[in-house]
Amino acid sequence: MTGHIIMLRALARHHRARIVHHQRIPFTLWRQVCRRVELLRRLTAAERARLRLLATLFLHDKSLNGVQGLVLSREMEVIIAAQACVLILNLGLDQFDGWREVVVYPDAFRVPREVPDDIGLVEEEEQVLDGESWQRGPVILSWASIAQELAGGRAGRNLVLHEFSHKLDMLNGRANGFPPLHPEMDLQRWTAVLSRAFERLQAQVIHHEAACIDDYAATDPAEFFAVISEYFFMEPRLLHHYCEDVYEQLRAYYRQHPLRRWPAHRSQ
Ligand SMILES: [Zn+2]
Repeated sequence: MTGHIIMLRALARHHRARIVHHQRIPFTLWRQVCRRVELLRRLTAAERARLRLLATLFLHDKSLNGVQGLVLSREMEVIIAAQACVLILNLGLDQFDGWREVVVYPDAFRVPREVPDDIGLVEEEEQVLDGESWQRGPVILSWASIAQELAGGRAGRNLVLHEFSHKLDMLNGRANGFPPLHPEMDLQRWTAVLSRAFERLQAQVIHHEAACIDDYAATDPAEFFAVISEYFFMEPRLLHHYCEDVYEQLRAYYRQHPLRRWPAHRSQ
């Protein structure tokens, strides 16, 4: 049995090496994407090289489909794949196992939602979203939002990081802000630190106080995890300053230290 598993693993490794060898994202395209995406420019050359391989495998494993007339260019696909793989740069591509499709709308999209009304009856209403992540199902994105962020649109926010971090959260059941932690991490510490920060943010939102991170994070623990993951990579200085212990938990989880990528960071 063990021998069989070892052989399967060796075969999988060989298969992946072939994909990386034959289908690697061409260097000119990769360089073009790295120039456009600030998140990638901040990585070290060695990290970017590793990310290129991960993004190559991601594009081989997943099916990226434009809908409502959107035709995805290879550059658009690489922009999505590379940003998604930043999350798993030190975790491995198997963190994205169990689903296959990424659906990309040209713009924000409408979905029917069942919401309880004031007296607890369920009503159906239409919501306009720019991203969504389904458990064991697709990741859904709006290209307009991604393009707006590439142009420097929303400080600290990143739709691709947001939706794919929900996928990590969902590895152990529904999204609840509690992804499977590593053996060396302290589960109780994670829960205590994130719950305290979440409750503080909720209180700030209720009292209309200015919060340091987008108040969408106060929606529920799942959205909190997704939004702090965005800030961890996009605005680590802000997250570190706002809540150092949250930053440290994410650093242990993602096994990355993005603050180091801002050499001249001010510790206020
Ligand atoms: Zn979300």
